[in-house]
Amino acid sequence: MAQVSLRQVTKIYDNSFVAVKAADIDIQDKEFIVLVGPSGCGKSTLLRMIAGLEDISSGELRIDDKVMNQVPPKDRDIAMVFQNYALYPHMTVYQNMAFGLKLRKFSKEEIDRRVKDAAEILDISHLLHRKPKALSGGQRQRVAVGRAIVRKPKVFLFDEPLSNLDAKLRVQMRTEISKLHARLESTMVYVTHDQIEAMTMGDRIVVLKDGVIQQIDTPLKLYNNPANKFVAGFIGSPAMNFIQGTIEKNDQLEFRTEGLLLSLADDIAEKLAPFVHEQVTLGVRPEHIQYNSDARAAAAAHIEVIEPMGNETILYVRLGKDVLTARIAPQSHLKVGAECRLGFDLAKAYFFDRHDNIIH
Ligand code: ATP
Repeated sequence: MAQVSLRQVTKIYDNSFVAVKAADIDIQDKEFIVLVGPSGCGKSTLLRMIAGLEDISSGELRIDDKVMNQVPPKDRDIAMVFQNYALYPHMTVYQNMAFGLKLRKFSKEEIDRRVKDAAEILDISHLLHRKPKALSGGQRQRVAVGRAIVRKPKVFLFDEPLSNLDAKLRVQMRTEISKLHARLESTMVYVTHDQIEAMTMGDRIVVLKDGVIQQIDTPLKLYNNPANKFVAGFIGSPAMNFIQGTIEKNDQLEFRTEGLLLSLADDIAEKLAPFVHEQVTLGVRPEHIQYNSDARAAAAAHIEVIEPMGNETILYVRLGKDVLTARIAPQSHLKVGAECRLGFDLAKAYFFDRHDNIIH
C-alpha cells in the first residue's frame, strides 16, 4: 500500500525562484503517474521533494497518510532511479545492487536472494560480476532499476531514466518498465519531458508548465479534453496546429484568417457567439485535417514539404501565413508546390480565447 499526496506543495529556491507552485496531486496505490512538461517546468524539483532530496518550502507531502516533510530520504521507503544511473564504478553489478541493503544491515542470505531475484526479473543475471564500465547503456539502466527493486520500496521514483538511451532501446525499456510496474504492483512516479513516453506509460499524467500543474488526467482524456492551449499543444505528435483568426458574423458565425473562412455549425457557434470580432485560436490536430477534401469546411493550400513515413504521410502545407501539419494516408502522386484543398474536421477541433483558455 502506498498512496502519495501533495497538498499545495511549493518550492522556492534560495535565489527566490519559484520552481513549483502550490501542487496538489493525489497518487493512488499501485498507480503509475508521469510528471511531464518542457525543460525547466519543475518536474525534477517535484520528484526530488517527494524523495526528500529537496526541502519543501510550503505545503504538505504525505505517504500513506503520514506527513513526510521532515522525514529524511532514507526513512521514506522510496527508491529513486536517476537519469545518469549513479552506479558505483568500482563495484560489480552485484555489489551495486547489494549496497543499499548492506547499509540497512540485511543478512547476507536475504541480500543474495533479493539481488538474484531482481537480476532474473531484469534479465541481467549473467552480468552480476561485471563492473559498470563493461556494460552497455541499456544494461546499466537495468542495474539502476535493479538497485531500486531489491529495496522493495513503497514508491519508485524515476527521473528521466531513459534519456541516455538511443531511440530503439528507449522504446524497448519503456515497455519493460511498464511490465515491471504490472509485475511489482507498486506505486511509481516517473518524470519525463517526452510526451510519447508519458502517454504510453502513465495511468495518469500530470502536465506541468512554469511550475504550475496544468492538468492531471488519463492519456486519452488529455488528448481528447485538454484543459487549455498548452496541454493541447504539448500532448499529441505531430503537435496540434494553431491558427489565429477572428470570429465574424454573417448569415452564420465564421472563423476567418487571411487564407481561410470556415462557417461554424450551430453547436460551435453558440459557444463562440460572445467572441464576435475578437481574436481566437483554432486548434486542429494533424489527423483531423483531410487532404483534397470536398467538405464544406475546406480551403486552398500549397504543399511545402512531404514526409512519407510508409504507413502514413506527413504534409506541411501553407495556408495564408500559416504552415499546417496534416497526417494523411500514404499516396504516391504528391508534389511539392502543388495546390490542394484541406478539409477541417471542426467537430474534433478546439477554439481558444486570447488567454489560451478553451472555449470549445
Ligand atoms: P529538465 O527537464 O530540464 O530537467 P525540469 O522540469 O526537471 O527540467 P527542474 O530541474 O525541476 O526542471 O527546475 C525547475 C526550475 O528551477 C528551472 O528553471 C531551474 O533553473 C530552477 N532550479 C533548479 N534548481 C535550482 C536551484 N538549486 N536554485 C535555483 N533555481 C533552480
